[in-house]
Amino acid sequence: MGRLQKILIPFLGLVLAFCFYSARENFKPEMLKGKRVIVTGASTGIGEQMAYHLAQMGAHVLVTARTEAKLQKVVERCRELGAGSARLVSGSMEDMAFAKRVVEAAEAELGGLDMLILNHVGKSYFSYFDGDIRHVQKLLDINFLSYVAMTVSALPMLKQSGGSIVVVSSMAGKVGFPFTVPYSATKFALDGFFSSLRQEFSIQNVNVSITLCILSFIDTENAVRAAADVLLMSPAPKEECALEIIKGGALRQREVYYKYALTKIPLLLRDWAAELLDYLVRQHYHVERPPAA
Ligand code: NAP
Repeated sequence: MGRLQKILIPFLGLVLAFCFYSARENFKPEMLKGKRVIVTGASTGIGEQMAYHLAQMGAHVLVTARTEAKLQKVVERCRELGAGSARLVSGSMEDMAFAKRVVEAAEAELGGLDMLILNHVGKSYFSYFDGDIRHVQKLLDINFLSYVAMTVSALPMLKQSGGSIVVVSSMAGKVGFPFTVPYSATKFALDGFFSSLRQEFSIQNVNVSITLCILSFIDTENAVRAAADVLLMSPAPKEECALEIIKGGALRQREVYYKYALTKIPLLLRDWAAELLDYLVRQHYHVERPPAA
């Protein structure tokens, strides 16, 4: 009987795990066809690539960032790729009134919203913390508060559509990294806010999913320019990263890990061997040659 139990219990566990994972829906590009999506920070980098994937899937995309000329090119490309429609709103996320206006534009021009992809990120430095509190405050406005402001404005439409909020974060929002202190603080704040909000949605039966995306180093122009000399790691491709984020949002996943092994494995270590993880993180930096402050 004892031996039977030893075999039976793990076997049942395996069967249950298999049933649980195989019952999960697979991603199909048609899931995004006709969906109304806002992508912030879409003039370049991962946001731009997300706009192109969404366009190819037939979504209605509304892109936003500060640089109108770049957004105009993104919109043109989205139309060529087959977007249901493509439009832009330009402005700075330092201004919460602007964040609200972007959502209002979606309401007025798209008649609602199915997915809100919060991806923009303000410029920061890649160096030792310089003590500039005003910079931390400004970055919190752009990288955190505007995400909150857009979420608040978009919630009525998302509740109506049973939609999704996708929050682009970073390993620097889960683990302490050197040279990105203000940036890291804003990304940790996103985790606190959106993971707590997800709990409340669950209690209140709000049918709006929240997907937090934990990214490793990605080969966008700005990230490579800032970090490639100091970070001993190859960046992952932005095109694939953008697709994984969209898939995670469409499947209403709790979190997306990209690249999976580079993010998930360190996170498993984090709670059990934090000092070992800190040590391993430092081994991936040229700390003897830090960037100038
Ligand atoms: P990026 O290439 O630097 O693009 C940033 C986007 O944000 C641009 O479209 C930029 O456009 C916009 N933006 C900057 N300041 C803004 C402001 N004040 N108001 C409105 N928009 C503003 O960034 P990325 O590398 O693609 O990163 C995208 C996301 O992935 C970010 O949330 C980032 O934290 C996360 N991530 C990236 C990496 C990486 O290695 N690349 C790693 C982990 C996480 P304008 O300049 O035209 O405004």
